[in-house]
Amino acid sequence: MPAFTIKRGAYAAIEAEFACAHTTRELRLRIIEDGRPAFYRQCTRCGNAGRAIGRGEARSELKGSEAPDFDTELEPRWYARKHAAYVATYHGIKPALEAEYQAYLSSQPWYFKRDAAIQNANGVCECCEYFPATQAHHITYERIGHELPSDLMAICSFCHELIHGKHAL
Ligand SMILES: [Zn+2]
Ligand SMILES: [Zn+2]
Ligand SMILES: [Zn+2]
Repeated sequence: MPAFTIKRGAYAAIEAEFACAHTTRELRLRIIEDGRPAFYRQCTRCGNAGRAIGRGEARSELKGSEAPDFDTELEPRWYARKHAAYVATYHGIKPALEAEYQAYLSSQPWYFKRDAAIQNANGVCECCEYFPATQAHHITYERIGHELPSDLMAICSFCHELIHGKHAL
């Protein structure tokens, strides 16, 4: 089954770019909610705080000088950039993903799985338990292309469209 290879590779570059090893940390002072000062070695790239540093350890390292302020914006900005990269990538691959999915839905392996789901339900829609089932609905897309029987339910076309929000009740 060659299907669904696009998505797997698409986000690898983002994961690699945002897998920070925290190689540059700087001792910084963070005033926590109740006003107490706390020291952290903040990653200057991604903003990761790591564990709190004991005050004694911090003071002896600072040797009387002031620690720079902890940057509370750094980490949210980092994850916002990562999120934006995911969204941009998703929009880029969306047409290819949809084409891949449509091709799967008209493939022999899918027909067998769909027919097996319908047979398991004795040909009756598992949603309304009334109309004949003619389709199979993905309860989860987790194993798309390699579905377990329990990932699918037999369904009639009316209930199927309802599930996917094409009807308003
Ligand atoms: Zn980092
Ligand atoms: Zn139905
Ligand atoms: Zn469906």
